[in-house]
Amino acid sequence: MNVVKNDSVLIIAGNQRGKKGRVLKVFPEKNRIIVEGINLIKRHTKPSTKNTHGGIVEKEASINASNVMVICNRCGQPTRVGRKALSDGAKIIRVRTCAKCNEVL
Ligand SMILES: [Zn+2]
Repeated sequence: MNVVKNDSVLIIAGNQRGKKGRVLKVFPEKNRIIVEGINLIKRHTKPSTKNTHGGIVEKEASINASNVMVICNRCGQPTRVGRKALSDGAKIIRVRTCAKCNEVL
């Protein structure tokens, strides 16, 4: 999976196509992610210690990770993610790169 927590992503499929958001959570084993403000569902909750009133709470539901593109911090473009191995002399570090400007994501 090419998406990690705190990435900015663009939704490219589904009814929220074109929206952008920050990744709040990733589920690599399911290939799903939760994006802030995207795919909100209404939950009817009972009062609890956390939410003393209960009622209807809007919450993000997960979406498929293949429905988003990562937005590059440097060029600001939604991009495919490349992979590159860097070496600091002692060890090899695998990083993600922007397919458009080659910046390390
Ligand atoms: Zn870029």
